Amino acid sequence: MKTFKIVTYGCQINEYESEKFREFLISAGLKEVKEERDADLVLLNSCAVREKSELKLISRIGYIRKLFNKYGKPLSVVTGCVATVKEREIRRVGQKSVGLVMKGTRSLKERINELKEFIGIENVVLKPEVKGVFAYVPIIFGCNNFCTYCIVPFTKGRERSRTKEEILNEIRTLAENGTKEVVLLGQNINHYGRDIGYKDGFIELLEAVDKISGIERIRYLTPHPADFTFQDIERMRELEKLCPHFHLPVQSGNNRILKLMKRGYTREQYVSLVNHIKNLFPEASITTDIIVGFPTETDDEYLDTKRLVEEVKFDKIFLAKFSPRPGTVAAKMEGQIPEEIKKLRQNELLSIENTISLKKNRSYIGKYTEVLVETVKEGEMLGRNPQDKLVIIKGEGKHVGEFVRVKITDADMMHLRGVYE
Ligand code: SF4
Repeated sequence: MKTFKIVTYGCQINEYESEKFREFLISAGLKEVKEERDADLVLLNSCAVREKSELKLISRIGYIRKLFNKYGKPLSVVTGCVATVKEREIRRVGQKSVGLVMKGTRSLKERINELKEFIGIENVVLKPEVKGVFAYVPIIFGCNNFCTYCIVPFTKGRERSRTKEEILNEIRTLAENGTKEVVLLGQNINHYGRDIGYKDGFIELLEAVDKISGIERIRYLTPHPADFTFQDIERMRELEKLCPHFHLPVQSGNNRILKLMKRGYTREQYVSLVNHIKNLFPEASITTDIIVGFPTETDDEYLDTKRLVEEVKFDKIFLAKFSPRPGTVAAKMEGQIPEEIKKLRQNELLSIENTISLKKNRSYIGKYTEVLVETVKEGEMLGRNPQDKLVIIKGEGKHVGEFVRVKITDADMMHLRGVYE
């Protein structure tokens, strides 16, 4: 095998893992290509959280099978969430073009070893390639929560934390190679370290990362509102490099639905957590995830979510229609909501969110914000400010990896625009 291509679906953890597979394949002497038809091997890193990405994966496998039948290549290797739960379907659709299926519940190290055996290259010395000004760093894999709609505990397995030393060493190496911003990752990041006997593991890890020289910004995803304590937020206030951005998935604004989802908090507890954050971090942006059309959700219960959105005024909402995932409790519940009602609720919330986001973004006009430049192209620089807003900056005077002070001159729902000093 001489060439490869990687296709990634889903979350930042999958992106991180794909990057590690990529480093491995390059270290093994393979060359990365853009098109499947030029590749000897296509690695598909799959996501099962939504039905849509699962369908996209299956259709991609079908496309690769057609290429394989015509040209005798590429072979596909499928990993990630769908590989855990749908191996038989993957093999049925891909037939001989599927060379290997690696379950997402297995550790990255085990899967890299499987891949090594599959491509038949023995001695690979990993040459980590640090590319970006920001990097994802997983700190805990899997989830123990079993929210009733979610497939993650089945596809990624139970919680497994990396040791603090391993994580800090990785971040120090990243910093030495020019990374300025790290995004710590976990399905329920507040649980970090519990499985390996750490008390206050997550906040203590943040405090340790805050001291690493060269790292200028720290972000993390995803906290769980039921596990986020007021004391954590107070200790976060003391950190120099932590960005004022809180992504707190609420999922619903109605207590009966939250209970059915098994989320472990009430609407009132959620709002009081958000208010505590707003008091301690008045400059923070707050984003969330919401599911509309959970089984049995009535119009009135949906209206509770709508009122919550209007009350909290999120900077951004990742909005999904409920989609039944196989094996989950919610998939078998009676009272599934018709698609057209889900769509109506989704559209209404989207339009409210657009108005709020636009107003919030426009409130930056005339103010200064600090942006870490991530890319430069066609006369513009692109980066993010501490609140995780995407900022487009006129001019190419600065380079990737530099911080610029930007005066915001315009804004839409998605971006801020400005000029640098
Ligand atoms: S906490 Fe998140 S990952 Fe875990 S089961 Fe709930 S929704 Fe899924």
